[in-house]
Amino acid sequence: MRATHALIDIAALQHNFQVLQHRAGSARVVAVIKADGYGHGMLTVARALPQAAFLAVATIDEAMHLRQAGIDTALLVLQGFKDQAELAQTVAQQLVPVVHAPHQVRLLQQSAARLPQIWLKLQTGMHRLGLCAADYLAAHSSLSAQSGEIVMMSHFACAEQVDHASVAAQIACFDNVCHDLSGTRSLANSAALWSLPHTHHDWVRPGIMLYGVAPFADRCGRDLGLRPALRLYSELLAIQPCRKGQRVGYGLRFQCQTDTRIGIVAIGYGDGYPRLAADGTPVQVVTAAGAQAASLAGVPSMDMLSIDLGAHSKARVGDQVELWGDAIALETVARHAGTIPYELLCQLTARVPLRVA
Ligand SMILES: *Cc1c(COP(=O)(O)O)cnc(C)c1O
Repeated sequence: MRATHALIDIAALQHNFQVLQHRAGSARVVAVIKADGYGHGMLTVARALPQAAFLAVATIDEAMHLRQAGIDTALLVLQGFKDQAELAQTVAQQLVPVVHAPHQVRLLQQSAARLPQIWLKLQTGMHRLGLCAADYLAAHSSLSAQSGEIVMMSHFACAEQVDHASVAAQIACFDNVCHDLSGTRSLANSAALWSLPHTHHDWVRPGIMLYGVAPFADRCGRDLGLRPALRLYSELLAIQPCRKGQRVGYGLRFQCQTDTRIGIVAIGYGDGYPRLAADGTPVQVVTAAGAQAASLAGVPSMDMLSIDLGAHSKARVGDQVELWGDAIALETVARHAGTIPYELLCQLTARVPLRVA
């Protein structure tokens, strides 16, 4: 069996949830598990967090998948329904939809469906999903009769940059429009939950931090007391002795500065390791003589990547390699690849088995 796999740490998920619940104070925690639980396996995460007030997914399809697997936690659907059929599924499966656009308001009114709760989303500056202020006030009043409770929500564009002027502007917009309306409120994603306590309101919606990853550019989850919930492992498939000046891999990007040993690791972009990772991206090899730091040497290919082990390495074929998770922070790999941790987690492919620990 191929050694490349991801290890999902249930205890870490539970620990992170508790840290976030504590940070949230009296606000209720909506655990965001869209995109297959940020690559950790949506069902695994759903089952690991039974104490969540809600599980949030992006689509009705994701919610149906959870229901069919027997998950009976309250489910929030962040994109809501798009037509009558999805509205019917929403009602039948007792899903809680986000209503964010005029066509959804009309669908609800035409159907005369009654829902125990809807989340009504205001556009406050990000210009992605959400009703404009005038539509919002009209919808809030007209949908009150069709919904037991309306939760007022919006979403930040730049919450991970706490001082960004847009943060205060979005809060002011939200407060202005919602100020006389009845119902509970929700604004905060992970970054706001962590660093903007005045945005907690009644419900917080963390995603990335549940997985032990920091949304901030300059910090790792571990710095914040979180534990990484996914560790990505592979093994050494071969070792190539190389002389000073020789080059490695497609395009011959990496050039050996000294005589060295190049380790070939059994993971590549076909598994979701970022092809854009730069030379020097750290990895860790676990040799019989102990852990050894090494770094990417050359462009990752589809099924393999190459690392510089150094001339005196004790590493041998078959040794385990950690790409990220424990010794190597995912945040660090993302920075070396010019992307964010969210994308690396979501781009793991089906070839990588998720083993649950
Ligand atoms: C994805 C998402 C979240 C979670 O964001 P994180 O940055 O992962 O905490 C919260 N709210 C909405 C509307 C989302 O789409």
